[in-house]
Amino acid sequence: MKAFTLGRVIPLVEVGAADSAERNLLASDFAVIELPLRDTHYRPLRDLRISVTDRCNFRCVYCMPKEVFGKDYAFLPRSELLSFEEIERIARVFVGLGVEKIRLTGGEPLLRKDLEYLVERLARLRTLWGADVDLTLTTNGSLLSRKAQSLWDAGMKRITVSLDSIEETVFQRMNGVGFPAALVLEGIDAALRVGFAPVKVNMVVKRGVNDTQIPSMARHFRGTGVEVRFIEFMDVGASNGWNMESVVPSSEVLRIISAAFPLVPASRTKPSDTSVRFHYADARGVIGVISSVTQPFCGGCTRLRLSADGQLFTCLFASHGLDIRNPMRSGGSDDALRRLVADLWRRRADRYSEQRGQMNTVRSPSKVEMSFIGG
Ligand code: SAM
Ligand code: SF4
Ligand code: SF4
Repeated sequence: MKAFTLGRVIPLVEVGAADSAERNLLASDFAVIELPLRDTHYRPLRDLRISVTDRCNFRCVYCMPKEVFGKDYAFLPRSELLSFEEIERIARVFVGLGVEKIRLTGGEPLLRKDLEYLVERLARLRTLWGADVDLTLTTNGSLLSRKAQSLWDAGMKRITVSLDSIEETVFQRMNGVGFPAALVLEGIDAALRVGFAPVKVNMVVKRGVNDTQIPSMARHFRGTGVEVRFIEFMDVGASNGWNMESVVPSSEVLRIISAAFPLVPASRTKPSDTSVRFHYADARGVIGVISSVTQPFCGGCTRLRLSADGQLFTCLFASHGLDIRNPMRSGGSDDALRRLVADLWRRRADRYSEQRGQMNTVRSPSKVEMSFIGG
């Protein structure tokens, strides 16, 4: 049960049966949650990224290198995964706290059986202001030509496809399993055909691996309506062997592209946008750069991540998550869950990328992997 007053939600908290350390938090019988929720740096909670699986059929060198994610790697057992009903319930709690955008990710989200069922339910959510929740998905595109129509029919209207090169040798080496770029391109075509808009393409640029592919990626997608986003290789997780020399700064990417196709800065749509966008001067499309390493954007970071086993991570570079599955499975009410999330967000102080340069060491062996919480 909850009462709304101007700019504020006052939920009544039912006491759940949780027996964990969260008991005190859940046991309050009355809680006032002021909206918008703000963290310690005054950032509101607006975006939820939901990982629906930690598994993937690729072994991208910068994410799940096959030397680490081999056949003996212990992925989550089925029983540990949140069910679609549980994900929907958690998503509702978040939307009730001001979330306006939900991104499904993974691992590879299209590997999760019947994902359309979840999409259908999430597509029905409305923000606190009564608008549609902005629902999108990030995929490696390997199954997209088969799934584009059913995802569209289920209510997904925007999509991001990761593709690090259109050149077969480079792409197949980079995805670690020899998957053909041609099939990902078919998936992108299928998404365009059924009407997805926008279709975005993510290219992680790694020096000495695919940096020579920047002009051909720009050329290939110019004039197609697809927006390519060039992403700086990040030091997420503890297994991708990151070092600063492998990072191609966005400034360099922009120099390379504009030498072939002049660019004009585009206006930023939202402070929380991760990409800085540019138009081609001849109006044949838009590109973006995501400069998480050289131009961190923690100040506008309104994102929280939910792992496939129900842990909440307030930063991509976190070592620990807060479990929401156990409180939920042990009978916690929606209001109890809402309070758990609100309390987590209010305590949030993360700004890892901004602090990276000041740290003696940036690599912690316990950092969570990107494939576990999604991008
Ligand atoms: N499997 C899906 C895919 O590849 O699109 C979704 C999950 S993947 C973890 C989400 C995004 O994170 C992808 O666009 C991927 O390229 C990006 N990513 C993974 N590791 C990265 C890294 N070390 N630095 C920058 N981006 C990374
Ligand atoms: Fe899989 Fe995506 Fe990670 Fe590549 S980036 S290994 S496709 S989860
Ligand atoms: Fe957000 Fe953490 Fe990335 Fe900064 S480092 S932008 S706080 S996820």
